[in-house]
Amino acid sequence: MTYLDHAATTPILPEAAAALTGALSTFGNASSLHSSGRRARRAVEESREVIAAALGARPSEVVFTSGGTESDNLAVKGIFWARRAQDPARTRVLVSATEHHAVLDAALWLADHAGAEVTLLEVDDFGRVHEDTLRAAIAEDPASVALVSVMWANNEVGTVNPVRELAATCAAHGIPFHTDAVQAIGALPVDFAACGASALTVSGHKVGGPYGVGVLLLGRDVACTPISHGGGQERDVRSGTLDVPAIVALATAVRIATAQRAERAARLAALRDELIREVRVRLSAAVLNGDPGQSGMDGGPSRLPGNAHFSFPGCEGDSLLMLLDAKGIECSTGSACTAGVAQPSHVLLAMGLAPALARGSLRFSLGHTSTVADVRALAEAIGPVVERARSAGLAGLRRAKSPAAAEV
Ligand code: PLP
Repeated sequence: MTYLDHAATTPILPEAAAALTGALSTFGNASSLHSSGRRARRAVEESREVIAAALGARPSEVVFTSGGTESDNLAVKGIFWARRAQDPARTRVLVSATEHHAVLDAALWLADHAGAEVTLLEVDDFGRVHEDTLRAAIAEDPASVALVSVMWANNEVGTVNPVRELAATCAAHGIPFHTDAVQAIGALPVDFAACGASALTVSGHKVGGPYGVGVLLLGRDVACTPISHGGGQERDVRSGTLDVPAIVALATAVRIATAQRAERAARLAALRDELIREVRVRLSAAVLNGDPGQSGMDGGPSRLPGNAHFSFPGCEGDSLLMLLDAKGIECSTGSACTAGVAQPSHVLLAMGLAPALARGSLRFSLGHTSTVADVRALAEAIGPVVERARSAGLAGLRRAKSPAAAEV
């Protein structure tokens, strides 16, 4: 099998799996006062320290959650509610047009149910939010902005945003800035204190940790109204008994992913460049989407090192995906969370792609288990697969245009 879908989920690191299974045979509620509880609490607090040190945060800024989706919802809704409670005039939520649905739909839910006014910040052809776009949006009425959320790196096309500049623009107006760094951790240098964000989202299964666990890094002075109420765990921001084994494994994964980041990023970027070359040699019509990856951004690359995203004119992404899958090659037509829905990606549309071209797109994403053999397998398969998907597309088009077909 050739797995080219690490942005959807990446295999758990052996060290994290060992930490998880080791911790599963222990027990204890981290809120209990007896010895078992204190043992569990110690494991949680040590994990908190490891994650904080790896990501340039203070331990008290680490809020454990059930993953990226919950962290995004907590940041967007919680900070909105807290800011509006302080001042009812703060109703505007500014998010980039290319956010993951966990941010986008949380913001749109606030518009439908809580009186928020959502502005989708435009992106350029690479999918990047520019600082002057954000500045202009804030300038319309700075006092009415509740929060801004712009992802660190896009999960579909891999484009990296100028997070420090965006955070600084928000800070100049005292506006909280959240960034979804789910795809950035372990791929780019991420330092919470240095980037100036108020809140930052981390997901376990994207960094070689377990599913169903994540973190919201939340600045000490950032007010956030809880979404769920209960035992008051995690600074009273996120109630619920902590999943100690998952947290211990997450800390192991974050520690290793950040320690090995530079070396792994260089290896994956070289593999990714090879993959792009191979596809282009075989298919001159293939369009590479996103940043070409040459310029630097906040001390790191301008495209995620493991990301290659193409559109194949005349093809349907779903056909390409299934034909590749039949050859043992797994990739994605876009964000895994929206795959299966026959809609062009909102990210590609926001970047200005025509809907038909957007529908014929594939994301190949590399990770810690990727090898040159994976790239070779794709190189051998991609030409015939695109050829077949294109003929199927043309046949479908002919059928749709023929009057006989229209009658049935
Ligand atoms: N944010 C981004 C950028 C993602 O890529 C994903 C997963 O696809 C999420 C959030 C959701 O994270 P989780 O799967 O941990 O809920």
